[in-house]
Amino acid sequence: MPRVCTICTHPEHDAIDAALVGEVANRRIAAQYAVSEQAVRRHREDHLPSIMVRSEQAKEVTRADDLIGQLQEITARTDRLYKIADGIIGKAASSEDWRTALMAVREASNANREARANLELLGELLGELNRNPTVNLHLSAEWIRIQTVLFSALVPYPEVGARVAQALKEIERDH
Ligand SMILES: [Zn+2]
Repeated sequence: MPRVCTICTHPEHDAIDAALVGEVANRRIAAQYAVSEQAVRRHREDHLPSIMVRSEQAKEVTRADDLIGQLQEITARTDRLYKIADGIIGKAASSEDWRTALMAVREASNANREARANLELLGELLGELNRNPTVNLHLSAEWIRIQTVLFSALVPYPEVGARVAQALKEIERDH
């Protein structure tokens, strides 16, 4: 039967791992948590590296999730803003209210700029996913959703949409 690690099963294993990463001496950790120094040394050598890799991956996933959330929010806002501006332009033009029409055009062009900023953010995100296949797998369902949201928001900007589609194709080819 494999020996159970008294550190891994310790109720305060997170604090012990933090102390190990903080380079606290084995002897001090053993005394503080009432475990054997040998167990601390074995855990540091055999278990700590994989624990650190796992926690690093979890952080990456959280970061990518955050990015997607932000991107969805910005995209939805841009889309709303563009629709509002578009409606105002139509109404102002039919009543020949050129001042209002001009203001709405300015709003629409702001929305356009935001769409471009979204594109940059998406580019960073794609780079992130490209560098980390684990994250890529984890996000596939989320990814399909964001693509749908993004492309519908980019309908008023066909040239931007085409560039996004091109970037996605390149990513798929790389994999
Ligand atoms: Zn262990």
